[in-house]
Amino acid sequence: MHLLLKLFFAKELCFKNLTPYYFNNLTVSESNTKEEIILQGIAASPGVAHGRAVVYLQKQLDVPCYDIVEAQFDAELERFDQAILETRAEITQVRDKIAKSLGEGEARIFDAHLLVLEDNALLDEVTAELRGSKKNIEFCYNNVAQRYISFFRSMEDEYLRERVADIGDVSRRLLHNLIGMQKVNLGQLAAESIIVSEDISSSDAADMDRNKLLGFVTDCGGRTSHSVIMARSLRIPVVVGTHDATKRILSGNHILVDGYEGVIVINPTEDRLYKYGKLATERKKRDDTFNSFISEPAQTLDGASISLMANVEGLHEMEQVKAMCAEGVGLFRTEGIFLRHHGYPPESVQYDEYRSVVEAAGDQPVIIRTLDVGGDKIIGDDNIKDDNSFMGFRAIRFCLGNEAIFKTQLRAILRSSAHGNVKIMYPMISGLNELRQANQVLASVKQDLRDTGEAFDESIEVGAMVEVPSAAVIIDLLAAETDFLSIGSNDLIQYLMAVDRLNEQVAHLYDPAHPAVLRTLKSIIDGCKAAKTPVSICGEIAGDPIYAGLLLGMGADSLSLTSSLLPEVKYFIRHIKKAEAEVLVAEVMKLGDSAEIVQKLEAFRRKALGDMA
Ligand code: PEP
Ligand code: MG
Repeated sequence: MHLLLKLFFAKELCFKNLTPYYFNNLTVSESNTKEEIILQGIAASPGVAHGRAVVYLQKQLDVPCYDIVEAQFDAELERFDQAILETRAEITQVRDKIAKSLGEGEARIFDAHLLVLEDNALLDEVTAELRGSKKNIEFCYNNVAQRYISFFRSMEDEYLRERVADIGDVSRRLLHNLIGMQKVNLGQLAAESIIVSEDISSSDAADMDRNKLLGFVTDCGGRTSHSVIMARSLRIPVVVGTHDATKRILSGNHILVDGYEGVIVINPTEDRLYKYGKLATERKKRDDTFNSFISEPAQTLDGASISLMANVEGLHEMEQVKAMCAEGVGLFRTEGIFLRHHGYPPESVQYDEYRSVVEAAGDQPVIIRTLDVGGDKIIGDDNIKDDNSFMGFRAIRFCLGNEAIFKTQLRAILRSSAHGNVKIMYPMISGLNELRQANQVLASVKQDLRDTGEAFDESIEVGAMVEVPSAAVIIDLLAAETDFLSIGSNDLIQYLMAVDRLNEQVAHLYDPAHPAVLRTLKSIIDGCKAAKTPVSICGEIAGDPIYAGLLLGMGADSLSLTSSLLPEVKYFIRHIKKAEAEVLVAEVMKLGDSAEIVQKLEAFRRKALGDMA
């Protein structure tokens, strides 16, 4: 039967795109030589990794093209048959899995994919193309598949037009097998590897296996993407925004990733490895010194204190939080649980997760942030697919629009509050209306719990993130109606400067030292002080000593940061005077050029840290 008829036939079946499919790129490139090649990207997570690269491409597949002679026809066709067999086995396996987990209806799409795979007309065309063009089989198959795709794309029938994606998925799967590339799952890497990818999604990152994943490198992305934040907390070195690392590095290449300077070295020389070895020893000595102060208070030389808390995503980080002597959890990003679960976990699962973190914290506070889905945190595949998801149906907007999901989470958080010192924080609040609406939902959940006699902390504190510029402008109003506020500088900077935090092309504009950012931070902190509402900073700048000193000088009550960065920040705080930090604030607030501001902040840091800078 012709593919067109099969697809009409398959109309009865439930067509749906295949789940995301990953493959390595085998393009022959300059890195095939043993010559040392240096690439520059953006330093995203500190540390140095050295090992075997695994290239992990999600979107584009480079199909090789080369001439063959007639004597090779049979061997090429044999390769093709073999790839079809492998692809059929794979699709059948996925089909069975989906049938078990989601039911036969959802699995039927894979029956249709099998029909596409084995379509005789298409296969005959590939053979004819091979004989006619005398090119390798993957090139011929791709040509034929692309012709089919263009044909379907031009169809009047909307249903058939939409099948383009399905034919694309099947042909990609087949090409992937034909070219002999292995699939990569970040949770199940076969050997220690450095992943090189166009991008790493937050759900891929949620599966990261620290024991095997030595580091990662991406073409796209920024320092504050959620996957990078997760890598930083696991101390995995990362370089992002390289533009074309996936084209220049081959799977199997030996590469060195310098997450301090944003450098990648392909085929590093012995000399280079020796220099990096020395650097690692120096860094280790420096870290040991920072660590030796870890149980001391976060107190300046003139006796001012600032509370240093930790950002976490679950229980697996609590041992480290304790080891780093954090004064509690300043930001529990609950999306981690949803991402690891690849969906919306029931109340019981969430309750167990929250309770375990709360109990691990003992009597220290745990600020649980309600679900911040959207942006680069996409849960499952039924989630929000806005064109501009950072400005779209995200965080509190999503929760208020999906009250059942929100209520389930609030019930679980409230119940966990019976086991320790829990606070609730809403993300992405843009005005009083949203805050009040969220509080109304919270009040109704509390009432339900009272009605059924479930225990929770009746005087639980409720706060909000300040990460949308409108919230910063009305800080007095928000501070009057919250128990605490926390500045989410990652988003605040992107929204204030109109710079997508994931887009490497505008990464140079993502500037925490921009005078507009500093003025906004200062006015938020001043507003909170005036209202006597405690204010903290939980964005990534809190973990960077050059900003930590400034934030202390502005009067922040606490900083919440990735716990692995806590020793250096604490060491720094212990080596400065608050009075000097206040002078620094006054000086930089007068400057209009962010490069000059950075110079001043750097000089302050160097003076405080001396040899340790
Ligand atoms: C922030 O925006 O600064 C923040 C802490 O939240 P997230 O990075 O999870 O968006
Ligand atoms: Mg945020």
